[in-house]
Amino acid sequence: MNLIPALDLTQQYQMISDRLSQEVLDLLASGRYIGGYAVDSFEKKFAEYIGASELVSCNSGTDALFLALRALEIGPGDEVITTCFSFIATSEVISAVGATPVFVDIDPDTFNLDISQIEAAITAQTRAILPVHLFGRPVDMTALMAVARSHNLAVIEDCAQATGASWGDAKVGSMGDLGCFSFFPTKNLGACGDGGAIATNNPDLARVLRVLKNHGQPERYNSELLGINSRLDALQGVILSIKLEYLPRWNQQRKAIASRYSQELEGIPGLIVPAESLGGETVWNQYTIRYVGNNSDSSGRDRLREQLQSLGVSTNVYYPIPLHLQGVHRDLGYGCGDFPMAEQVSHQVLSLPMFPELSSEQQDRVIYAVKDCLKLRAIG
Ligand SMILES: *Cc1c(COP(=O)(O)O)cnc(C)c1O
Repeated sequence: MNLIPALDLTQQYQMISDRLSQEVLDLLASGRYIGGYAVDSFEKKFAEYIGASELVSCNSGTDALFLALRALEIGPGDEVITTCFSFIATSEVISAVGATPVFVDIDPDTFNLDISQIEAAITAQTRAILPVHLFGRPVDMTALMAVARSHNLAVIEDCAQATGASWGDAKVGSMGDLGCFSFFPTKNLGACGDGGAIATNNPDLARVLRVLKNHGQPERYNSELLGINSRLDALQGVILSIKLEYLPRWNQQRKAIASRYSQELEGIPGLIVPAESLGGETVWNQYTIRYVGNNSDSSGRDRLREQLQSLGVSTNVYYPIPLHLQGVHRDLGYGCGDFPMAEQVSHQVLSLPMFPELSSEQQDRVIYAVKDCLKLRAIG
């Protein structure tokens, strides 16, 4: 029996390989490997897609977040409020600029930060809120922006997993002060390597970002700010421009798969399927179920994962350890029990295979496998 991968990037490549090959070869022949038309035109198209007036490309989603914090001059002595349930890049960059991550717990129904807990975390040192649209599901930006504005805080959106998602009529990344994107290959819009971007409607911030990502040089060989080298390769610009044309369709396909999964798996005892967002469009970078057996640790979920693997279904655990319990943040003084929802969810989550090309036959096999495992458990 052939294994259903959690993610397969080869089919997408096959589908667009003719166009990719042609345009990549043209770029190689052009001799313009840094900047140039490929990057400029991608920045324009992506800004338009997101609905932001300015778009600054960079080397990764991590750099995008780092540059965003630097552009807002957030550093030592400052606090940034963020979710405790995300990929490490989200909080790592806050520490990397010398500021202090201040975590809040999540709403287990959305996996996103619990907005009602933000206010209690605000201090005189708080400078910004950094929401993450986790797994492709939009944060309630209406509520979040209201809290931020009433306390005069900047908002940096981590849109790494949510390219194309929206809240109300607006795409994520266009509502905060700065929206950070990743083009890591596993994201909804993935390059063939690393890449990232920052969207903003603030031309002053965009200007600073362009200086910071280029060694702090407003002009060549004259550095004004402490910058870094963070460029989107021209090659990735070519590839991303092509893939951007397909992104709306790919996100639709993800949505159809998610609906099918939910329809089939909803109501099974011991299982919670991810809820649709009421105020926005989810783009399903991950389809993440929660196994809620009678275990207080991760053993039930881990066993389900092994059983699925033996039935030919690969899954992933995003994320087994919340951010406040990561060793790198030990100096912050958080401990077990500080954020009970995230800690519980980290023991329950299991992400099923999700990519646009997942065939309906493969979807069937995933659904039957999950049902099989849970039925066996109900009996045993
Ligand atoms: C992937 C990811 C990042 C970092 O993006 P890279 O391009 O891998 O540096 C940041 N935040 C979240 C939530 C991510 O999933």
